[in-house]
Amino acid sequence: MRIPFVAGNWKMNPPTIAEAAALASDTASAVGGIAGATRVVCPPSAALQAVARALEGSPVEVGAQNMHHEAKGAFTGELAASMLTGLCSCVILGHSERRQLFGETDDFVNAKVRAALAAGLTPILCVGETLDERDAGGAEEVVRRRLAAGLDGVGTGDAVGVVIAYEPVWAIGTGRAATPEIAQEMAAVARGQVAALFGSAAADEVRVLYGGSVSPGNAASIAAQPDVDGALVGGASLAAGDFAAITQAFASA
Ligand code: PEP
Repeated sequence: MRIPFVAGNWKMNPPTIAEAAALASDTASAVGGIAGATRVVCPPSAALQAVARALEGSPVEVGAQNMHHEAKGAFTGELAASMLTGLCSCVILGHSERRQLFGETDDFVNAKVRAALAAGLTPILCVGETLDERDAGGAEEVVRRRLAAGLDGVGTGDAVGVVIAYEPVWAIGTGRAATPEIAQEMAAVARGQVAALFGSAAADEVRVLYGGSVSPGNAASIAAQPDVDGALVGGASLAAGDFAAITQAFASA
C-alpha cells in the first residue's frame, strides 16, 4: 500500500517572500483536510523559512527545489543539506530545468541524492526524456539510465524511501501532459528499473510520481493508473484550489 504523494514545485514563484507565505497558508487551508496523501510544497530557497513558519501545525510538508552535495565550502549560491534539514522533509533533485539550464549531470545528481539521504531528507529524483529522445524511441532507455545513475551507490533500505518523479521534458510547462497510458507505461518502466536494481519488494514500495502539466482536469485519469503514486505539480501548484483538486484526485484514486 503506497501512500499517494503530491508535491508542488513553485519554481521561482511567487515573486516575494510575503506572497510565498500567503500561498503556503492558502495551500494549507485547501489541502490540510485531504487525508491519505503526503502533501508537500517546494518554494524558492529564500522563502523556505517563511513557508515553514506559515505551515507550522499543518500536515503540509516543505521541500526544497535543489541542494549541493558538499557539506560546506566555496560554492557560491548553493545550499547544503544541513541548511535544509530543520526546514524541509524532502528535496527535488535532477529536475530537467536543472539538467538543461544549469548543466547538471547524472553523476552530480547522484552525489546529491546520496547527500540528501545521509542527511535524512527524502530525495524527489526527477527523470524523463526529451521529445527528441522519445521520437527516436529512446524514452525507456533514458529513464532506466538516469535511474541507474541517480541511485548508484544507494542501499536498498534507502532506495525505497526515494520518491521517483517521471517527468517527460516535453510535458513540463507546456500544457501538453502525457496521456494516462504513457504516464502508466513510463511509471512501470521506472518501477521495473527499481526492481532490477534493488529487487521486487523495493519496487513494490517505492513511490513513482508523474509530472508534466498536471491539472485539475487531467489529474483523475492519471491518478487512476496503477503505477502512478502521485504527482509533481508545477504551474497548477501556484493556485491553492487547483493544487487541492489535484491532491484530492490522487488521495481518492
Ligand atoms: C515541474 O516543474 O516539475 C512541472 C511538472 O511543471 P508543470 O506542472 O508546470 O508542467
